[in-house]
Amino acid sequence: MEIINNKKNPDKWKIKYFDLLDENEDIEKSCKEREELLCKTIIRLSFATIGVNKDLDPYLQKIRTQLKKGLKTEQLKSELESFSNALILMEEGEQENEQTISSQLFDFLVYNFPDHESALLDIKGNFATNDYTSKDSLFSAINEIINPEKQIELLTPSVTENDLEINSFENKSILSNLQLLLDTTDVPSELEPQAQALKEKIYGNASLSTVLDETISFIFQIKKHVQSEQKEITEFLTQLTDQLTELGIKTAGIHSSTVSTRKERNRLDESVSLQVKELQNSSKNATQLEPLKQLIKTRLASITQQIQEHQVKEKIDRNKVEKVEFELEKMTIKISMMEKESSELKNKLITANLKATHDPLTNIPNRLAYDNRLRVELARWKRYGGALSLVIWDIDYFKKINDKYGHKAGDKTLIFIAKLLTEHCRETDFVSRFGGEEFTMLLPNTEAKSALIAANKIRKIIEATAFNSNGRKISISISCGITQFLEADSEISAFNRADQALYTAKKNGRNQCVLI
Ligand code: GH3
Ligand code: MG
Ligand code: MG
Repeated sequence: MEIINNKKNPDKWKIKYFDLLDENEDIEKSCKEREELLCKTIIRLSFATIGVNKDLDPYLQKIRTQLKKGLKTEQLKSELESFSNALILMEEGEQENEQTISSQLFDFLVYNFPDHESALLDIKGNFATNDYTSKDSLFSAINEIINPEKQIELLTPSVTENDLEINSFENKSILSNLQLLLDTTDVPSELEPQAQALKEKIYGNASLSTVLDETISFIFQIKKHVQSEQKEITEFLTQLTDQLTELGIKTAGIHSSTVSTRKERNRLDESVSLQVKELQNSSKNATQLEPLKQLIKTRLASITQQIQEHQVKEKIDRNKVEKVEFELEKMTIKISMMEKESSELKNKLITANLKATHDPLTNIPNRLAYDNRLRVELARWKRYGGALSLVIWDIDYFKKINDKYGHKAGDKTLIFIAKLLTEHCRETDFVSRFGGEEFTMLLPNTEAKSALIAANKIRKIIEATAFNSNGRKISISISCGITQFLEADSEISAFNRADQALYTAKKNGRNQCVLI
């Protein structure tokens, strides 16, 4: 029929053809627009997914590059295939990972609950065949086996009809805040079980209003407890201060008198300050009052005991020191007494010695002193050499003086002669009263001739000096025998020689000095 019509109107085909061309052009244009829109959308989507998965990013980058060049089907197809393969590989990996974890979980459960092995393996089988619609149902099943008495305590609280409000987001937020409040509050150890019970209620089925009320009253309870603890702390600190004051008084009474007690005292100081330091540290780190109180009590008791022990020890030491000091004082008194006695004895000895070696009448050395001095001078002469001379003096006719003027005048004459003899000889010479009216004179470092000169000089002085007694003038002369000590001489032999010389002087008329 159309053909007929076409025959009737030949331009009709033409018109239709052009219409179709227009229509085709519109379709092409629309396709082009859609194609561009699609490309843009994919590009933007690929941009939006950058970083979601690093493994996929390179594939998406390649697809983007392709799309920017236009929609070249073949190349795009190949890029899409690569992308799909990468996706498949990733999914397989995830599945494998999930399976590995679940397998490890069941191994762990079987290891820890060997009694429930077969039941757990059943669940494992069911899990593999995806029998559990959610993780909760899987965990419920496991919990039912391993902990049949406590079936409710799972990660998410189960929902009850009379507590529908808990399901709301706000209520959950309140509950988690209550939980946080309890977790961050310092709960005293006595109230810890109560806190635990309350936390369990927050996790459990209790209604929000009940939990809120209980939490508020619990917080009040904590406050009250803290207040009473503060009161206790104040009382305890007062006690502690009293105890420390007492300790201070005790330690102030300690005197470190001896070296050993001073050392002890230093040791005590060190020990006490160490313990106080430890107490300070313990106080800083303490979170509970009761254990801290116990610690402080124990430490204080230990410090007190140490101080008491030290005091006892020091008292013993002090007693010892006092005893020693007493003994020392006694000894000092004894020593000073002995010193006094010894000094008295020394003086007595000196006096006695002086008496023994001095002539009481003339107050010059006596015969004993002569003997002593002779020994010394002889030793010195033998050691150092030189000469040692001896003079023996004898007053001429002394008996007559006694007889004529009296014994007292005789004594005075003796004193007078002794004085002259001593005065007119050298300081190194030694004059003594040998006995009666006889005197000896030792002349060290003096030869016999010099001794003779010196003796004659003295003799002449005596001769020239008139002795006055009771207004009467008494003339005296004196004779002497002189000798020099010889190598072979003894004390006696030399003396005898001098005596011989004296005898000669007397025999020859007196008032003369003879040397042998
Ligand atoms: P000559 O010249 O020979 O020595 O004669 P002389 O009289 O001195 O000697 P004699 O031995 O005969 O006398 C000594 C006298 O000295 C006798 C004695 O009474 C006297 N005489 C001795 N000792 C003491 C004394 O201590 N005091 C007095 N006053 N006389 C004394
Ligand atoms: Mg005589
Ligand atoms: Mg005489």
